[in-house]
Amino acid sequence: NATIVPHERPPARIGQLGLRVKKVVLVGSGKGGVGKSTVAASLAVMLNQMGSRVGLMDADVYGPSVPHLLGLEGRPEVDADKKIRPIELREGFPVMSMGFLVEPDQAVIWRGPMLHGSIQQFLRDTQWGELDYLIIDMPPGTGDIALTLSQSVPISGAVVVCTPQEVALLDAVKAINMFRKVNIPVAGMVENMSGFLCPDNGKTYDIFGRGGARDKAAQMDVPFLGGLPIDIRLREAGDEGRLHEVIADQPDAAAPIEQAARAL
Ligand code: ADP
Repeated sequence: NATIVPHERPPARIGQLGLRVKKVVLVGSGKGGVGKSTVAASLAVMLNQMGSRVGLMDADVYGPSVPHLLGLEGRPEVDADKKIRPIELREGFPVMSMGFLVEPDQAVIWRGPMLHGSIQQFLRDTQWGELDYLIIDMPPGTGDIALTLSQSVPISGAVVVCTPQEVALLDAVKAINMFRKVNIPVAGMVENMSGFLCPDNGKTYDIFGRGGARDKAAQMDVPFLGGLPIDIRLREAGDEGRLHEVIADQPDAAAPIEQAARAL
């Protein structure tokens, strides 16, 4: 079980950040590289397509990849009243990322207080408008940021992304325990890289295995939200900054994401 050392600064009270958001959903993972940002961005795009007002916040300050996946760049403007105007993926679909504020090749060294402050500032000072969902792409494996968030806004649930490999599942279990420890309800697990969908023959090969997350979810008593195969369209689109186009135009590639989105 993770030990979480609360930050010395008094926490913001629930609702203090003044967000007008019906559901705040965190997307987390035990470790990096499992497709957490891909799932977070895809879920946000899918919920938007399904007719919801959605915002996406990339809180993965160590490796903000949402701008890259969605082909967004630019510097958010700051209004006279010091509110940050987010970058929009589509009209009325605000996206905010630390990636918009630092040069892509610059390493950012975060110390605890700065990190907590900046995440709260992101939430509080961004003009999110009125939203049905705010999807937050979390940094992997960190309990302290989840703690900060849980003390700042009411969180409706956390989605934990993992791959089917045993080691990845163990990390996912840690992530679930971490969310539970800070009283964030776990919305469920998504198994990413759940088999490889071969474009040549349409067959699925279980490169990293398959089904491990479903079993682990049952053991941990959390919902299983579905499996997303390794799909070259997702990887290419992510690299080319048009992940949202695959979610919009390739219903078969997007089907597992739709299934997970319906559960949120
Ligand atoms: P994380 O946020 O966990 O570090 P990313 O979402 O950035 O992971 O994904 C890491 C890499 O894997 C990216 O290049 C992404 O395009 C690719 N990727 C993620 N999920 C899939 C998938 N299901 N099929 C193919 N490529 C994927």
